[in-house]
Amino acid sequence: VREPSLPPAPTANGRLLAALHQSGSASRAKLTSAAGLARSAAGSAVQELQDLGVLVVRPPAASGETRGRPSPVLELLDDGPWVATCELRPDALRIGAAHLGRTLSATRTLPCDATTESPADVLARVGRHLSRFIRKTPGPCVGVGLSLPGMVDTEAGVAKSILSMSWHGVPVRSLLARHLPKGLWLTIGRDAEFAALGEHRVGAGRGASRLLYLLGEAVGLGGMVIDSRIEWSRHQHALQAGHMVVDPQGPRCLCGSRGCLEVFTDGRAIARAVGAKGPFTPEGFQRAVVLGLTSRQVDRIRAQVLPRLRQGLVSLVNVLGPDMVVLGGVLAPLRDLAEEELRSGLRQSVVADVEHVTLVRSELDDAVLFGAAEAAFEPLLHDPKAVLRVAARA
Ligand SMILES: [Zn+2]
Repeated sequence: VREPSLPPAPTANGRLLAALHQSGSASRAKLTSAAGLARSAAGSAVQELQDLGVLVVRPPAASGETRGRPSPVLELLDDGPWVATCELRPDALRIGAAHLGRTLSATRTLPCDATTESPADVLARVGRHLSRFIRKTPGPCVGVGLSLPGMVDTEAGVAKSILSMSWHGVPVRSLLARHLPKGLWLTIGRDAEFAALGEHRVGAGRGASRLLYLLGEAVGLGGMVIDSRIEWSRHQHALQAGHMVVDPQGPRCLCGSRGCLEVFTDGRAIARAVGAKGPFTPEGFQRAVVLGLTSRQVDRIRAQVLPRLRQGLVSLVNVLGPDMVVLGGVLAPLRDLAEEELRSGLRQSVVADVEHVTLVRSELDDAVLFGAAEAAFEPLLHDPKAVLRVAARA
């Protein structure tokens, strides 16, 4: 089911479309320079993208901002190409339609039980939901981005190990493709990596040249380093940050080591500190913080969770040298509860002592969906003509 191969480097119209995807509508002159194109190459790229039904050219805005001939404005069409973006969790499927210009619409959460049903049944259900969604959404769907909560071989399209769903070596791409319209690019990846990509492109991590993203989950802690000078999908660095040992005499972790960072800082650890029954999901902990924790509960979080998180942060920043740290999942409300303690902890790192390192919380509710969409748009932004030709045949 693999799609036609793409040229090694993005085409001129791909580069122009990527610039338009990033900025939204803008003048042709501005997009030409953002895409690094010569004026003649940009001219034919605009014509091709117009013929492909991706954009429309509007007369220049009346303003005296530039000398010489004012440049026409390029605008994305509302019913242009889009991708279906989805996040499979053990207990639910979240889907949405992602559009060029980095907007998301029609998001919804559908029931799905990936803990008791077989992978083939779960993926058949996902495929049926998606097919219906694709039929009902206007414009050509050119791809699907699917996020999974575990280790994934992106190239092979295989879920290597998803502990929470007991999936091991599941050929996700081929199982799902059977239930989808032909001609769709199907991109799979891991939730923490997509969340990092989403925050970097659309959310709190915009503008970071080297972003360290940490995602605290109900069980576990993942991470990602995104270097903005390196193309996504090539040599970006996923981190098993949760398994960094911060206390060799600490409690046993699921991985077999003792005293891993996640044992002290994930949704289980925070729930233990405040005396809640089950582990906190990111949404559950955020809700608890908004409804108001008692000062005693906050003190216990400060005493039991923060010192280890600070310790982990200092080591990670020293080793990875980011200019920005984004805390997501259960760590995002923690950053609000104890911003100054975390910042002062961070300043103890050698790197942050010398360089400026920003510490922020994640901004997006649907970071994973945005990230999966960014990955799923890659083929289109590489060669719009080839991808749309295949989509038109489907
Ligand atoms: Zn561990």
